[in-house]
Amino acid sequence: MVLTVKHVAKAYGKGGQASAAEPVLRDVSMDVRAGESVALTGESGSGKSTLLHLIGGLDRPDAGEIWLDGARLDTCDDAQRAAIRQSDIGIVFQQFNLVPSLTVHDNIRLQARLAQREDSAQIEALVSTLGLQSQLKKYPEALSGGQQQRVAIARALAVRPKIVLADEPTGNLDEATSDTVLSELLALVAETQCALLMVTHSQVLAQRLSQHMHLSQGQLAPYEAQAPNT
Ligand code: ADP
Ligand code: MG
Repeated sequence: MVLTVKHVAKAYGKGGQASAAEPVLRDVSMDVRAGESVALTGESGSGKSTLLHLIGGLDRPDAGEIWLDGARLDTCDDAQRAAIRQSDIGIVFQQFNLVPSLTVHDNIRLQARLAQREDSAQIEALVSTLGLQSQLKKYPEALSGGQQQRVAIARALAVRPKIVLADEPTGNLDEATSDTVLSELLALVAETQCALLMVTHSQVLAQRLSQHMHLSQGQLAPYEAQAPNT
């Protein structure tokens, strides 16, 4: 199992009184295997980004456990969590978050280099799968949204993470581009056997992943389409 989440709970303090806050996550458990892709849907404000932050080691749960490839993340100190985040977790954001002063090639290489995982043959393969060969010397501002998101995906995968966390990665792309970028991302996940946890608003995109989980009232359950009233 690449990722195991066990009975995780999280509340944000209201006016400094954590005890008075309604929990965002009440009891969330999930398992994700290598090569598996999981879609996460839920109403706006249901806690999807909160769950990704906890799994990404950016914040700690109030209760429960988070395990990444056999290492318990929630009890690590900040330095250990930062190290795990750098080498084992790839993050893809809705807003791309590329470094504007670096070329496409340097954007892709930066995090792999920081994690001491840079492998030029692997980067070449990523660039080729994502169709970025002719973009490498350009700066992010010269790219379309779809191309910028492909750069962000290459950057995340260049680190050879155990899991990629993607928070609405196609939220800023048109439908046709979303479809193609998701196909490329799923192909790369299958090929590299990392795991993918992806938040999306789109039920159509969610159905293309191997699991579809829905977050509601602080709990996570397999998504079930509403049965028609009969
Ligand atoms: P989603 O991504 O599903 O839209 P979020 O995880 O962003 O939901 O937010 C869930 C709830 O937690 C919302 O009510 C939001 O206002 C609240 N929330 C999120 N982050 C914080 C924070 N850092 N401090 C206080 N409240 C927060
Ligand atoms: Mg969100």
